[in-house]
Amino acid sequence: MEIACLDLEGVLVPEIWIDFAERTGIEALKATTRDIPDYDVLMSQRLQILKDNGLKLQDIQAVIADIAPLDGAAEFIDWLRERFQVVILSDTFYEFSAPLMKQLGWPTLFCHRLESDAEGNVVNYHLRQKDPKRQSVKAFHSLQYRVIAAGDSYNDTTMLSEAEVGILFHAPQNVKDEFPQFTSVDTFADLKQAFLNASVRDLSL
Ligand SMILES: [Mg+2]
Repeated sequence: MEIACLDLEGVLVPEIWIDFAERTGIEALKATTRDIPDYDVLMSQRLQILKDNGLKLQDIQAVIADIAPLDGAAEFIDWLRERFQVVILSDTFYEFSAPLMKQLGWPTLFCHRLESDAEGNVVNYHLRQKDPKRQSVKAFHSLQYRVIAAGDSYNDTTMLSEAEVGILFHAPQNVKDEFPQFTSVDTFADLKQAFLNASVRDLSL
């Protein structure tokens, strides 16, 4: 049996924090781990900015509801689910990604969780575990699944390494250069073909 593991942001949907920052005009929310390498510091800053701007979870979700998946992503997911068990492994939060997952037909998603108070203020975040993408692939192996994984960035590379086949999709050039061991594709048509090539089953439908 085979499982297809997909990253979410940059593969199926835009980078949620960046898009949210652009839609709200809050420049400071564009900071990423490239600017602030300590994730705890970055997330604490983000939560403080949300609070300072009076943005509650429902306001945030209303903004995110206007973000659409990348062109072709919904059709790709449907295609993939006909051929593989599909699990999305992401470093986003369930509460943020919900409006986008709805547009993708609610595929299975393993990610993290935000904590809100009774008024809807986001007060904390909870990471499910350390190195969750790699740990998920390991867990699927323990269940006797063969794993084919695709992602676009550094936080995917442990998942891609752990999988039987790792595929880079929409990856920036520096990531492609640093990880030449992974097949790299840039269109959904090529990504479909990469999954077909990676499979050990006969997938002609
Ligand atoms: Mg990504």
